[in-house]
Amino acid sequence: KSVAAAPKNPSFGSSREKNGRRILVFVRVRPLAKKETEAGARCCVRIVDRRDVYLTEFAAEKDYLRLKRLRGRHFTFDASFPDSASQQEVYSATTSELVEAVLQGRNGSVFCYGATGAGKTYTMLGTVESPGVMVLAIKDLFSKIRIRSCDGNHAVHLSYLEVYNETVRDLLSPGRHLVLREDKQGIVAAGLTKYRAYSTDEVMALLQQGNRNRTTEPTRANETSSRSHAILQVLVEYRVRDAAMNIINKMGKLSLIDLAGSERALATDQRSIRSLEGANINRSLLALSSCINALVEGKKHIPYRNSKLTQLLKDSLGGSCNTVMIANISPSNLSFGENQNTLHWADRAKEIRTKGYSANEDALPVPQTETDQVKLVLDLQKENR
Ligand code: ADP
Ligand code: MG
Repeated sequence: KSVAAAPKNPSFGSSREKNGRRILVFVRVRPLAKKETEAGARCCVRIVDRRDVYLTEFAAEKDYLRLKRLRGRHFTFDASFPDSASQQEVYSATTSELVEAVLQGRNGSVFCYGATGAGKTYTMLGTVESPGVMVLAIKDLFSKIRIRSCDGNHAVHLSYLEVYNETVRDLLSPGRHLVLREDKQGIVAAGLTKYRAYSTDEVMALLQQGNRNRTTEPTRANETSSRSHAILQVLVEYRVRDAAMNIINKMGKLSLIDLAGSERALATDQRSIRSLEGANINRSLLALSSCINALVEGKKHIPYRNSKLTQLLKDSLGGSCNTVMIANISPSNLSFGENQNTLHWADRAKEIRTKGYSANEDALPVPQTETDQVKLVLDLQKENR
């Protein structure tokens, strides 16, 4: 079956939706590495119909005799990609509609979640031979812009930043630390480099360089495990004429996020500085899980302020944004616990709804009740003062 046959979200690209829209959740399994096969790892993941994920635990021989059967788990997602899925396939099914929406002045976010070594960076950045979602999105964006306008109406700007140890750094200006501020458009990193991009080729080089600026340090579990969260922001600005032929400026933003490894700090047997880092990474991802829980449970207060990461993702999780999550898992039975953890959060994320407002210029909340109406009026008055 082809990916196109997977359940498509009916509402990407449509206008305002009453009850908001659900985060779309995808799963991607990477191939078993040669090293893993040589070490005797077995494949513990099976994808059926490009949707269902079956996770099996291979118990040790003695446990197997005791348990009599293998323990397993079953999950269903918007689409699930087996290890044979190409970068283009993953991009087309997860992100291409968001790129289209960004060109209509809407915001979109895609984030990769999973343990270290599960394939997040491969999916997001990829390699020169097999570019990932970040590069394919920009390539697609440029070709869509070329079709749309010959007058140079669109401007594309890129920013690339990382959150490491609760510090925000500019990946396009290495060494520059950034402060987060809240303004009308939400949380912004003050002084962040905005790079005007003209072609895909330069972008690939720029991202590869930016990725080398990411903080990666050896841990016991993985020689180059990335302990930072990386966020690529693609800003598209353009002008259109309204019915009265006035020029109006429009803007759409696409955020592509490569999260740090979600494995527990304990698993890597870290020492002093490592464990401090681990604690911070856990703090960010813990904060992310608290936000997901609060959103799913419909809580009034969502604890975005608990970490830099959740402040930066505020718009993606609870704002006017189309959001996609790609959960990356390893096929190895040695990663059973981590995979289970990843799929648990992916499953939970399916229940989050973002506000389904359409374009940026009319992204005002629709009052649900009278009290809301009064509050909105008061807010507007305050803003106009
Ligand atoms: P993470 O960023 O989650 O820590 P990586 O993306 O660095 O993991 O992937 C770990 C290793 O597996 C890398 O060597 C990467 O090239 C390889 N890999 C990951 N996903 C795939 C895939 N779908 N196809 C081929 N190789 C992959
Ligand atoms: Mg990585």
